[in-house]
Amino acid sequence: MQIFDCPRQFQQACLSARQKGELALVPTMGFLHEGHQSLMRKAVEHRTSALSIFVNPSQFGPQEDLARYPRNLERDLDIARELGIDLVFVPEPASMYPKGFDTWIEPGSLSLPLEGQERPGHFRGVVTVVLKLLNLAQCSHAYFGQKDFQQLAIIRRLVLDFDLPCEIVGLPTIREPDGLALSSRNAYLSPEERERALSLSKGLKAAQTLFAQGERDPVSLEQAARKDIEKAADSVDYVSLRDVESLQVPQVIEAGKVVLLLAARVGNTRLIDNAVLGL
Ligand code: AMP
Repeated sequence: MQIFDCPRQFQQACLSARQKGELALVPTMGFLHEGHQSLMRKAVEHRTSALSIFVNPSQFGPQEDLARYPRNLERDLDIARELGIDLVFVPEPASMYPKGFDTWIEPGSLSLPLEGQERPGHFRGVVTVVLKLLNLAQCSHAYFGQKDFQQLAIIRRLVLDFDLPCEIVGLPTIREPDGLALSSRNAYLSPEERERALSLSKGLKAAQTLFAQGERDPVSLEQAARKDIEKAADSVDYVSLRDVESLQVPQVIEAGKVVLLLAARVGNTRLIDNAVLGL
């Protein structure tokens, strides 16, 4: 396994690897868990696999958790080695955003609601760094989790709009046995908060059950999820049923065509989760 902190050297290694065949990239912010590892296991099936670990400052708002975001590089490298990752890219912020950096990607309508509304500038930072990572890695494939449903939709759009020769692969959310979606931010939760955080996946399950029973009224479906979460969480940012493609309020409520997205705060930790209904 080769480890790079210099963008140019990482790109050189990727360019050489690409002459021999496919290269799959898994972009992460590190503190790797089973969710990340599910993406990495798919990436290593390609001729060359690359992992990036970069806590991207530009996607954090001024009041957000950039400084305390959990990190454990040694452990992450052990996991990557174990899974058979070929190239690891661990840049410093100053080499990704050197003095004079002045070009930003402005995502469109997919980035406006939900996370975009709650976290102004977040997706501008995400899309800019993802474009840089895809350009550096010259990857034929890039793996992302459906856990960040809106992010995945925006990145698919980026690749289409900018004609990037890279296939974006979205993989299902990995959960703890009790339903809690894995997230690096779960490390912030006390045992008592973790218990309350379970209300997010419970809420999604309640809406799934109601949908399976034939309910198609969006407000009732949202209410079913919201009830559990409002009881347990300290605040709820949104619980919203959306069209899986446009992320707009859906015109038709059909199995596989609508996704229930939610964000809530438990203690100081902001958590997100989602489920496509009827799947
Ligand atoms: P992050 O390190 O949080 O930026 O996540 C890196 C990648 O892992 C993103 O594509 C996430 O969507 C994905 N990911 C995070 N949590 C999970 C999970 N529980 N299951 C599957 N993928 C995940």
